[in-house]
Amino acid sequence: MQSSQFMRQFILKVAGSPSFSRFVQRYGRYLGARRFYAGDTLQEAIDVVRSLNATGITVTLDHLGESVTTAEEAARQADMYVDILHAIHSAQVDANVSIKLTQMGLDVGFDECHANMLRIVAAAQETDNFVRIDMEDSLHTDATLAMVHDLRKTYPRIGTVLQSYLYRSQNDLSMLQAAGVTVRIVKGAYLEPPSVALPQKSDVDQNYLRLVDMALRAGQYVAIATHDENIIQEIEGWVKERSIPLDRFEFQMLYGIRMQRQRELAQQGYRVRCYVPYGTDWYAYYTRRLAERPANVFFILRSLFRS
Ligand SMILES: Cc1cc2nc3c(=O)[nH]c(=O)nc-3n(C[C@H](O)[C@H](O)[C@H](O)COP(=O)(O)OP(=O)(O)OC[C@H]3O[C@@H](n4cnc5c(N)ncnc54)[C@H](O)[C@@H]3O)c2cc1C
Repeated sequence: MQSSQFMRQFILKVAGSPSFSRFVQRYGRYLGARRFYAGDTLQEAIDVVRSLNATGITVTLDHLGESVTTAEEAARQADMYVDILHAIHSAQVDANVSIKLTQMGLDVGFDECHANMLRIVAAAQETDNFVRIDMEDSLHTDATLAMVHDLRKTYPRIGTVLQSYLYRSQNDLSMLQAAGVTVRIVKGAYLEPPSVALPQKSDVDQNYLRLVDMALRAGQYVAIATHDENIIQEIEGWVKERSIPLDRFEFQMLYGIRMQRQRELAQQGYRVRCYVPYGTDWYAYYTRRLAERPANVFFILRSLFRS
């Protein structure tokens, strides 16, 4: 196993430890967590959307939170998303929303989650916006896809995400294409066993390109969500060779990562959407960002010893 893969798995495992979690939640703000989210409040998030829009970058907003265990909390989290959709509409900014179903109560029950999602979808319809359902760990993949299919019966402007580390994703993409669902392709951010996910990074990267190629050839709009320069350049090559129109796909990257590259791509005429999280529940999101790039951990340790 490559050392970066080992570090990734190690950080994701350690992130589950209560003492590590307490330490990071206490000091994370001072240790660089803030770089990855827009602020604590919706108003701060809308301000960030406005400044990104001014540089030609659109946004998908995420209210941080996941793994909710009570119906009351899930309903409160759904209220937040209804508020976000109305705030986007009244601020007249260019943004949609990304939602994790475990935040909307998927672990409480499919029906509770479905009821919460119906309220969000009604707000999306009212404000003429698009809803992206993020993909979480593989224990939730089937339920997430089932929810997407159900919700689209009410409102078609709903998309989801497929992870190139999962063996199943090519089949899932064919099924989503047949149903006309637009997809964001990512590599995958969770700790998964080799029985469900490709263990080698080079295979995950190869499968990523295969999935994007499948989506582009089918002529469906696709969100290419990666910071990987090799992949970005490969796609740029395809665009030239095959004369792929630039309105057939968008690049997506996370807030706080490769911001200069995001601006460059937008200036070159590519559609670029930045995933902007906000809120106070940043721990799980932050540790996934650390695991993706162990150099981030060394950066934190360095700043600890400097301060
Ligand atoms: C818009 C967006 C939405 C996403 N939604 C989901 C989702 O719904 N479900 C899911 O499982 N995953 C999601 N992810 C995360 C994704 O699965 C990967 O974990 C993440 O994007 C890192 O993979 P990469 O494609 O950037 O390539 P990598 O090979 O991991 O990284 C390539 C290069 O990008 C830079 N980079 C990558 N990550 C970081 C980082 N954290 N900090 C600094 N530099 C970094 C480094 O230079 C690195 O060498 C999303 C990612 C994006 C960009």
